[in-house]
Amino acid sequence: MPNRTGFLGSTLAAAGTAAALALATAVPAAAAAPATVEQDVDQLYQDVIDLYNGLPADALRGVDRLVESPIPRIGPQKQSQAADGPIPGCTEGSLLTYANKLAASLSPLEGKALDALSGLSQLYVQGVASDKTPQVFGTDGQYTARATASIDKLRGFWDIESWNIQLVAWKGTDLGSQAKMAQTFGLGLAPAKVKAAAALATKVLYEVPAMQGGRNPLLTLNAFAAPAGSLGGKRVALGDGLLDTVDVLGFDDVSVESVVGHEYGHQVDFAHDNHPRNESSEMGPDAYGGYFVAHAKGFGWNARTQQEVTYLDASIGDCYHSHGTPDQRKAAGAWGEKQATSQANPNRIIPSATMIEKFQKVYPKLMPPVTTQPAGARG
Ligand SMILES: [Zn+2]
Repeated sequence: MPNRTGFLGSTLAAAGTAAALALATAVPAAAAAPATVEQDVDQLYQDVIDLYNGLPADALRGVDRLVESPIPRIGPQKQSQAADGPIPGCTEGSLLTYANKLAASLSPLEGKALDALSGLSQLYVQGVASDKTPQVFGTDGQYTARATASIDKLRGFWDIESWNIQLVAWKGTDLGSQAKMAQTFGLGLAPAKVKAAAALATKVLYEVPAMQGGRNPLLTLNAFAAPAGSLGGKRVALGDGLLDTVDVLGFDDVSVESVVGHEYGHQVDFAHDNHPRNESSEMGPDAYGGYFVAHAKGFGWNARTQQEVTYLDASIGDCYHSHGTPDQRKAAGAWGEKQATSQANPNRIIPSATMIEKFQKVYPKLMPPVTTQPAGARG
């Protein structure tokens, strides 16, 4: 975790320095010089923090992200998972390693711009975007058909209220729309400040080249599920940056279905008020997702493809007691797949309440103590 805390620390230190400089030079301000990029980024960052602070109390409650992103999250935090320190003998998943490397290559200024813009785009997709307008998945729309097929199948697969679970595309390029950003800032920023803040967001997007006009994958390198009662209501958001990254790592042919299947698994838990306070909160959706992709009424994927899904599960495992380690996530996904392939009647779908119960029973066994495993047995 040195990357995340180091990154956050350096960003905050840079912010402090910039604030001190601003104080020292603010007084004479003779002619109104055009704002520097640094001043723009500082102002935008503050606007986004003010926006988050102005949200309704339950706006972000229960929102569950696929990975702990290396991008420091603006807004209320869960209790820091880094506090316990990493689990000994655990190696984080390849997707997290890749994301941390990308984040570490940014300068403090770029990192701060990224934090602000990423936080802003997440709020757009959670609170403003709606599937009433056609959603385009993937930077070039290349995943739209797969995403649509996945949510359609999932709605029919699990026996929960499904018509009002939206699937929305999380796109960094939405940051380039002042109208969309004005709607987003309108969720919590003082009305008099909304227009200027929206203009500043699009300005920063284009004046910091590392943002790639919204196509830097770190801006949207995640997916999440949001419950009823949160800002924007029940939804699953799928980030373009996540899909691009999963492609780079070689899991492209299972990415959309696996991730949407996992996030929909959170909706299954939400529907049953199942909110475990341990790793099973993430491993459960891995298992339900595995059951779905392997099941004849789901995608009915073959053994080789099922195995690829478990490796994708592992790639997002971390080494904290939060989302599950790579080994744990892989074991959970494989367990779910096995429930589908070992059924006497391949067309029968286990009721979601039963699936939750079964998983809660088995999950302690899917958590082998990582330090006692022989090294050669790890995959
Ligand atoms: Zn999750």
